[in-house]
Amino acid sequence: MNEKELAQLAIDTALQMGASYADARVIRLQRESLEVRNGNVNGIKQHIEMGMGIRVLVNGAWGFAGNPDLKKSKVEIAVQRAVALAKDSAHLYHKPVELARRKAIVTSWKSPCEQEPFAVSLERKLEALFEIDQILRGVKGVALSESGFDFWKEWQIFVNSEGSAIEQEIIQTGAGFSATAVSDTDVQIRSFPSSFGGQFASAGYELIPTLDLTANAQRIAEEAVQLLSAKNCPSGEKTLILGGSQLALQVHESCGHPVEFDRVLGHEADFAGTSFLTQDKLKHFQYGSEIVNIVADATVPGGLGSFGYDDEGTPAQCSDIIRNGKFVGYLMGRETAESFGMESNGAMRAEGYNHTPIVRMTNINLLPGEHELEEMIASTKDGIWINDNRSWSIDDKRLNFQFGGELGWEIKDGKIVGMVKNPTYTGITPQFWNSCDAIANQKHYKVWGTPNCGKGQPMQVARVGHGVSYARFNNVKVGVGYAE
Ligand SMILES: [Zn+2]
Repeated sequence: MNEKELAQLAIDTALQMGASYADARVIRLQRESLEVRNGNVNGIKQHIEMGMGIRVLVNGAWGFAGNPDLKKSKVEIAVQRAVALAKDSAHLYHKPVELARRKAIVTSWKSPCEQEPFAVSLERKLEALFEIDQILRGVKGVALSESGFDFWKEWQIFVNSEGSAIEQEIIQTGAGFSATAVSDTDVQIRSFPSSFGGQFASAGYELIPTLDLTANAQRIAEEAVQLLSAKNCPSGEKTLILGGSQLALQVHESCGHPVEFDRVLGHEADFAGTSFLTQDKLKHFQYGSEIVNIVADATVPGGLGSFGYDDEGTPAQCSDIIRNGKFVGYLMGRETAESFGMESNGAMRAEGYNHTPIVRMTNINLLPGEHELEEMIASTKDGIWINDNRSWSIDDKRLNFQFGGELGWEIKDGKIVGMVKNPTYTGITPQFWNSCDAIANQKHYKVWGTPNCGKGQPMQVARVGHGVSYARFNNVKVGVGYAE
């Protein structure tokens, strides 16, 4: 039996055992992660896993089982486990689960990839990392140099009891480096193209030369050393310009998570997991200023959160979350959408074969505005500009947040006057987004990949994306938490 026939067997078995709905995903995941640290290979992780996840609805309750053994007899045992789990938990449901309608789809989809990363030799990849490492360590004052590549190739066949059969292959690549400088009293880090691993995209090895890693290594390492003697971020209410991975993370934490509809409904609450964006606010609440437009777009070519179909077989789509500042949409799956009388907008995804799909971000993008970055700086009287994240915290309603960046640029009377270290800012989500008065144009727009979004219990890690340019916010409290 091939994978599709095994998945179909799981569906047929589940229906025979009383399921009203069933879906099965057979997944083959290939993964490679390489890290070079201070002139040495610090890690080479390679693994391949394969298995089937079976989800069933019996008596209006969900059952799920993951199964790494694709023998026919083992598939049947896994279906029995899933069905038994649904039957045992049915009495806990307030009302039976219903799924928003979806017509059957039979198709296949592949993410764009020019150069299959697993076909590139390990030697060539390590050579590229050593080249970066050497430049970083060549800068006096750098105590720790780290660089790495990450690759994923995930093949999956999805089959459900409504007649869908969808084959997908998604290839993703990530790359980046950081330099840490240490003095007797301080530790400072700079990263490129972004903190926490670099840039990630649905792409093959061809992504890596486009990131200009070696060309930026010297500058980034020097910035880490310069930060040691830079002044601390001044404190007070100032204008704040955000870009890069910092703006991406701001969107992720203060918009992406609170619009996950399962959290709004209270189905899921782990990891700061409820939301202030309750249902009464939909289509009424002024989330941000009128220039703030945010979409959930799983169709962006190259986005780390892009796919052809989600893990319920719903086609990838682009839907409005914030339109002209108003809160207009949630991230939903078939179950959560039905509870609201809507259709799923394709946001259900699972990590690997052995987790059940939950509502996840796709690419949550802050659409570009009309400004040039230079003009945004030139019209700022007293501000701080931050691009790369260093730390964050946000409360469980996603309202109060505090972020720290790796490096800040101080702006006085329209000019960048110097570097500041330990830049931080704090705010309350709607006040903050309502203070947004300028967003940079398409020229500055880029979709950043976030490879490590954790959610659920047991925890699932998702790879999601955030398209951003630069945005400016007014009267933001900066320089909190670091005393001179
Ligand atoms: Zn997250």
